[in-house]
Amino acid sequence: MDDCLFCKLASKKIETNIIYEDDNVVAFPDIASKAPTHILIVPKKHIKNLVGITTDEEGLLGHLLWVSSFLASEQGVDETGFRIVINNGPDSGQEVDHIHLHLLGGRRLSSMG
Ligand code: AMP
Repeated sequence: MDDCLFCKLASKKIETNIIYEDDNVVAFPDIASKAPTHILIVPKKHIKNLVGITTDEEGLLGHLLWVSSFLASEQGVDETGFRIVINNGPDSGQEVDHIHLHLLGGRRLSSMG
């Protein structure tokens, strides 16, 4: 997607501090971090959000969770705890229409709501 911010970051058309990359996924710090650890885990494939995903994407979604677990360990929040968030659509506050996982940790997180 030519006009997608996360496609541009994932393909390095826009520079960012990529802290993890493999064939299908990149991860970089959130520019407006909400916690000491706040990393965005982003597939290279453009998928808007969880609405309308197909079984073709099951493997990729599972891989995103594996990357989040790997990075939680790398960041040292695996023992203290962390949260994974995927915003979907307007009521969730999704700002970027390219699916991504927020990995949040490093402080006590407030209850969800
Ligand atoms: P969401 O609200 O789930 O769509 O989250 C989008 C996130 O992307 C927000 O937390 C933003 O702070 C973050 N963000 C926007 N632009 C950038 C950027 N250039 N680099 C890193 N994070 C960004």
